[in-house]
This record gives sequence, structure tokens and C-alpha cells, in this order.
Amino acid sequence: AENGNGSVKEGFEMPEIKYTKLFINGEFVDAASGKEFETRDPRTGDVIANIAEADKVDVDLAVKAAREAFDHGPWPRMSGYERGRILHKYADLIEQHIEELAALDGIDAGKLFAFGKAVDIPGAIRMLRYYASAADKIHGETLKLNGAYQGYTLKEPIGVVGVIIPWNFPSMMFFLKVSPALAAGCTVVVKPAEQTPLSALFYAKLAKEAGIPDGALNVVNGFGPTAGAALTSHMDVDNISFTGSPEIGSVIMQSAATSNLKTVSLELGGKSPMIIFDDANLDMAVGLASAAVFFNKGEICVAGSRVYVQEGIYDEFVKKVIEVAKGWVVGDPFDPKVNMGPQVDKVQYERVLKYIEYGKRDGATLLTGGKPCGEKGYYIEPTIFADVKEDMKIAQDEIFGPVMSLIKFKTIEEAIERANCTKYGLAAGILTNDINIANRVSRSVRAGTVWINCYFVFDADAPFGGFKMSGFGRDQGMNAIEKYLQVKSVITPIYNSPW
Ligand code: ADP
Repeated sequence: AENGNGSVKEGFEMPEIKYTKLFINGEFVDAASGKEFETRDPRTGDVIANIAEADKVDVDLAVKAAREAFDHGPWPRMSGYERGRILHKYADLIEQHIEELAALDGIDAGKLFAFGKAVDIPGAIRMLRYYASAADKIHGETLKLNGAYQGYTLKEPIGVVGVIIPWNFPSMMFFLKVSPALAAGCTVVVKPAEQTPLSALFYAKLAKEAGIPDGALNVVNGFGPTAGAALTSHMDVDNISFTGSPEIGSVIMQSAATSNLKTVSLELGGKSPMIIFDDANLDMAVGLASAAVFFNKGEICVAGSRVYVQEGIYDEFVKKVIEVAKGWVVGDPFDPKVNMGPQVDKVQYERVLKYIEYGKRDGATLLTGGKPCGEKGYYIEPTIFADVKEDMKIAQDEIFGPVMSLIKFKTIEEAIERANCTKYGLAAGILTNDINIANRVSRSVRAGTVWINCYFVFDADAPFGGFKMSGFGRDQGMNAIEKYLQVKSVITPIYNSPW
């Protein structure tokens, strides 16, 4: 692996940081306390900008604006068609800034610029358009009740939605939650991750330009225990949509339970298995398995971090996967030759290195990588451990870094049992050309998404979420819009009708 040195590519203009304040009720404002926090560039560790830091007071103001916009404003009262038109316009505006937005996520999160341009921002736009087009297709049912009554159901927006998201896909996460909530007619307060505050503020600005009414979308950057907790415990917030760690998911559920019983949906971590059978195409398997854990520097909840390889192809797989890992170029995410940027911050960087130490300590065999690289910034080599046992820490915990655990297996039954032996159930990959194996394993794996002969295929129309401690509730697809709706039954008598 090549080293990253955090240098900016010649000819590339770093994006100007235009928005750093809180976005409340359609205006950029300072925090009430005047406090700010630093957001850093993981390529160098240097400060990019100071960002207004929301506290409870600011979250209260944002929720008040969202409440007012919901209770008395036009947004929930508009026709779905009208909301959809505004959301499509919002998508049009984002389309005009793809490069700038990809660059913002690039410097804030160390994400590959080329990929941001080709996948992250277009994916976020696609999400927004999917729900923009769904806004006028929300409807209930007609009920022919017992006796002389009839009824119908209305699907009404749930109210004020609090969105709390992580830093690994700042743009996708934002629109994964905000698009269906706005399409449903809810108003929203977003608390982005403190590591990646930049693009969300740009999206707030564009929302206003598109005609989303003041108060319908608010962005309050700040920290979890202060701004995040103020949102989850707020008596005027009706729903929390969260993506993050299981530890914080549990805290959020407790906070919702002890405040106003707001509904929650939680998309938590994963320790997803990639199961490779003897008959799989070996080159494809090696390519997919390495991408599944090294892509986005392993900072992805569906990372295929446990790679189960059947014994017939195991030795050959190992040889090839080491070569492929060594070929992954680590370095400045703005350099088009680079495959893997730096970990998002110092905390994550040190955490990943600690897990590499656990792997060695617990007796796994380090095949390649295992070290930091570059003179500055938070770069780590693509790392592979073999002889991993399920009771090792590196096989149970979500590392959120470029660390693959290789495990040899013999039979289908064994693969299924071992694949299911973590507390998580977010995703799984199955590589085989035998349809009977694919069918059997896909039904037996306890995971919210199963990819057969592919990985990381996301689509706005494919529901995404977890089994077991990977959480509950779904993002994407029409299922997701239901989280932001509630059902009302309306019942009325029918007079003088024999039918
Ligand atoms: P990660 O480990 O990936 O940073 P976290 O679960 O810690 O994941 O963070 C995900 C999001 O949850 C972030 O926006 C963070 O600020 C927020 N968060 C952290 N702690 C809390 C909390 N106690 N209450 C509400 N939100 C929180």
C-alpha cells in the first residue's frame, strides 16, 4: 500500500466553507451560548472551520420552529403533489453543486472525492427524488365494518422528526432520513455527526432556496450527549430516526421511553459475514471480499468484515486476497489513483489500531497490513487476519476500519451457524453459482439485507435495516415512509342501506 501524505492535488480548488452556523427557522444563527467547535481534516488533523455548537437551548429553539411549522405551517397541509414538486426542485439544486458537496464530505470525512461525485451525492439525490415522487401516493384504506358502519384510514404525518446521523456517509445519511420524513409532511430537526457538520448546512441552505418553508427543516450541529440528548428527550419531538452505534441506540430508546414515548427507529452497527463457497468465481470473490471491508476505509455499517471461505478454495483465496489488499492505494482521497483515504478522526484511528492489537493478542495470524501509514493524518494499511475464531474480539465487535477476518469452513450448515453467531444482523454476502446453496443460505442468514454474487448494492427502492442488535425499522423503500406516518381510523354510520 502506498502512503498518503495529505497533500492537496494540484489544480484542485478546496471548497470554500460558506456555512458554519446553526440553521433554525430558515435562518443561519449563532449558538445561544456563542460556543463553537472545530471540525478537522483527517488527511492532516488540521482544523477546517469552527462550527456553531448547539446546546439544549438551541435544540429547544429548533424544535419550537419545527413544531410551529408542523402545527400551523403550510408544509403538512400542502397536497403531496405540491410537496413533491418542491422536493424535486430541491434535488435539482443539489445537482448543481455535486462537486462542491463531494469535496465538503471529502475534507470532512476523508472520503474519496471521485466516489462522492459519482455515488454519494447522486445517491442522496436519487433518494430525495424517490420520496419526492412518493409524496402524492400516500393513502389509507376503505373499511367495510361490521354492522351499519363504514370506515376509512388516513395516513397522517407523525409530526416533528428528530434525525441523528453518523459521519461515514454524511450526505446519504441526511437524505436517507430527511427525504421520506419531508415527503410524509413531517417537519425535521437534524443533528449531524460532530465529525462531519459541513454538507448538512449546505443542504439546509438549498432547502430554503427550493421553497421548503421556514422551520420545516432545521440543522443543529453539536455533540451527542448535549444536542443529541436534548432532541431525544424533547417532549415536542414525535419520532427519532437514528443511525449509529448500538450503545447510543440503547441510550436513545431509553430517553424516548422516559420522556414522551416518541417512536424510534434504529439502524445500528453490523459484523456482516461474506460467505464464499468452493464453486464461486475466485477472482470475483477476492475482489468483492476486499471491497466489502476496505471500501470507505471500512467505515461502513454493512462492511463484510468476517470472510468465510470454504476449504476447497481457501489457500488459493488467501494468496490472491493478500495481493489485492497490497494493491489498494492508501492516500489523499482527492487523488484519483487512491482507493482508500484516512480514518475519519484520531479517535477512530486509534480505535482501529487497538483492534489490530487485539487480533494479534488473541492469536489471529496477521497476513498483511496492520500498521498506520503516512507521515501525518489518520491512514491505516488494509489489514487481513487469518485463523480468526468466532470468540475473538475482532470477530465479534464492529471495528469500523479496514480489517478483514478470514475464517475457513467445511459445510453449508457450518457456514450458516457461524455466520449467525454475532449479536448483529445487518447484511450478508453469499458467493456461489449454485442456486440451491444461494437460496438456502439467504433464507437462513439472520440479516436485513442479503447480497448474492454482489455486495454494497443499495437502491432507494430496497428496504434497508437490521435484524437482532443491528436495530429495527427500515430506511429506503416505501417501508421507510411508514415510519413518519401514523394511521387514523375514521368511522361513520351508514343509514338505510341494506348493503
Ligand atoms: P459513532 O461511534 O459511529 O460515532 P455514535 O452512535 O456514537 O456512533 O454516534 C452517532 C450519532 O449519535 C452522532 O450524531 C452522535 O453525536 C450522536 N450521539 C452520541 N451520543 C448521543 C446521545 N447520548 N444522545 C443522542 N445522540 C447521541
